[in-house]
Amino acid sequence: MDTTWLASLPALLIGVAELAAALLFMYGLHRMASPATAASGISVAGFGMAVAVLASFLYAFNVEAAARPDLYLNLGLAVVALLLGGAVAWWAGRTVAMTAMPQMVAIYNGLGGGAAGAIAAVELFGTKTHGMTALIVTLLGALIGAVSMSGSLIAWAKLNGVIKKPLRFKGQQAFNGLVFLATLAVGAYLVVASEDKAAALMTVPAAIYLFFGCALVLGILMTLPIGGADMPVVISIFNAFTGLAVGLEGYVLQNPALMIAGMVVGAAGLLLTLLMAKAMNRSVSNVVFTNFGEASKHKPSKIKGELKPMQAGDAGIAMRYASSVIIVPGYGLAAAQAQGKLFDFVKLLQAGGVSVKFAIHPVAGRMPGQMDVLLAEAGVPYDMIFQLEDVNPEFKTTDIALVIGANDVVNPAARTDKSSPIFGMPILNADQAKQVFVVKRGEGKGYAGIVNALFYADNCHMVYGDAQAVMVEMIEAVRGLGLPAVA
Ligand code: NDP
Repeated sequence: MDTTWLASLPALLIGVAELAAALLFMYGLHRMASPATAASGISVAGFGMAVAVLASFLYAFNVEAAARPDLYLNLGLAVVALLLGGAVAWWAGRTVAMTAMPQMVAIYNGLGGGAAGAIAAVELFGTKTHGMTALIVTLLGALIGAVSMSGSLIAWAKLNGVIKKPLRFKGQQAFNGLVFLATLAVGAYLVVASEDKAAALMTVPAAIYLFFGCALVLGILMTLPIGGADMPVVISIFNAFTGLAVGLEGYVLQNPALMIAGMVVGAAGLLLTLLMAKAMNRSVSNVVFTNFGEASKHKPSKIKGELKPMQAGDAGIAMRYASSVIIVPGYGLAAAQAQGKLFDFVKLLQAGGVSVKFAIHPVAGRMPGQMDVLLAEAGVPYDMIFQLEDVNPEFKTTDIALVIGANDVVNPAARTDKSSPIFGMPILNADQAKQVFVVKRGEGKGYAGIVNALFYADNCHMVYGDAQAVMVEMIEAVRGLGLPAVA
C-alpha cells in the first residue's frame, strides 16, 4: 500500500487548522462588535487560538533529522510553558476584579508585544541566514513588539496606581527622538552586518542586545510622560502595535494564523486608536508627536460657587417625580460594582413613568467600552444606551442628569479652560440639564487629576457616598413613597 501521502499529512493538517483558526478569529471579532454577542465572540476567538496553538505542535513532524535531539526537550518546554501560562491566565481571569480588568488587558497586550519580540530574537540569534526583506521585517516587528511590551507595562503601572504622576523632564521629546534614531541606527547596522558577512547575525550579538535595549527604553520613555487624560489613546496605540508586531513576525515565520491574527488585532487597534483620538478631539499625530513628553501647563482656573451636599433619599425622590432623567456612568460605578443596583433603581423610575436614558462617553471608565460592558452585565437594554453625539442635544430638555462615579467626562473645563489637559475633549453636556446630581464618595478628582467646575454650579448637588450604598438608599426612599406603578 502506498503510504507516501502520510508524510504530507501534518503539513496539510497545519494548513487546514491555521485557515480554520484565522476564520474563527474573524468570526469571533465580528461577534464582538455587539454587546449582545460579545461574550460568545470571545469564546469563538479563544477556540480559534486553541486550534492554532495545538496545530503548531504538528510542526514537530517536519523537523529535520539534525535538529531532532533537541526536539523532545523543546516540546516538553512548550508543554510546561502552556500549562503554566494557561493556569495563571485561568486563575487571573476568574479572580480579577472588574475594576482591575484594564490593567490585566494592558499586561496581556504587553505580553503579546513581548512574544512578537521573542520570536524576532529567536530569528536574529538563530543560525539561519536571512534575506534582506525578511531581516528588515524581523527587525521592524522586534522594534514595535519591544516598544509595545515596555510601554504597556508602564501603562499597567499607571492604571494600577503604581505610577501616580506623569514623569517629565526638560528636553524629553528631543531625548526620545535621539533614542528612536539610535534604535534605527543599530537596526541599520544589523542589516549591513548581515549583508557583509552573508552569515548569521549571531556574530554580532552585542548589537542585537543593544537594539532590543534601545527599543525597550523607547517604549518606557514614550509612555512615562503621558498624562491621565491621554491614556485611552496610548492604550489603543499599543494594542495596534502588538497586532502589527505579531503580523510582521507571522510573515517572517510564514505562519498564516499569526499573520491574520496580527492583522486583525492591528486593524482593530488602529480603528480603536482613531475612535479614542476622536473622542478626545485630538489627531493621533498630535498625541504621538506633541503630547508625548509635553509638560503640563495646566493651572486650575478660579472656580466660583460652592459644593452643595444632598441626601441620597431626597435625590432619589426628586428623580421619581421628574419626567426625564439621563444617567452618566463613570469609573466610580465600576469601582463600586453598583450597576445592578443602579438598574433596579432605574426600573423603579420607569415603573413610575419617568423617561430614563444612559449616556456613555467613549473614554468613560479605564478601558474602551467598559461602561457598555458594565451596563450589559446589569441587563440594561441596548435601546436605553446612547452614545455622546446622539444624547448630548437632549440634556437641555432633561429634568435631571444623574452623574454616577463619573468626573472628567462631564468637566466643562474641556470647553472653556485652554490650559486644561482635557481642553477640546467633547464632554457629556450634563451641566445643561435643569438639575444635576453627582454621586461620588468625596472630593476625589478624576483620572486627569483636575477640579470639576460642574460640581460647584448652581444647578448641581453632590450626593456623597459609595455608589452602591447611595443606590440602595435611593431605592429604599422611592419604595418608601409607596406610589403605584404607572400602567
Ligand atoms: P474619572 O476617573 O474622571 O472619575 C471617577 C470618579 O469616580 C472619581 O472622581 C471618584 O471620586 C469617583 N469614585 C471612585 N470610586 C467611587 C465609588 N466607589 N463610588 C462612587 N464614586 C466613586 O472617571 P470618568 O469615567 O468620568 O473618566 C475616565 C477618565 O479615565 C478620563 O480622564 C479618561 O481619559 C481616563 N482613562 C480612560 C481610559 C479608557 O480607555 N476609557 C483608559 C485610561 C484612562 P471620589 O474619589 O470622590 O469618590
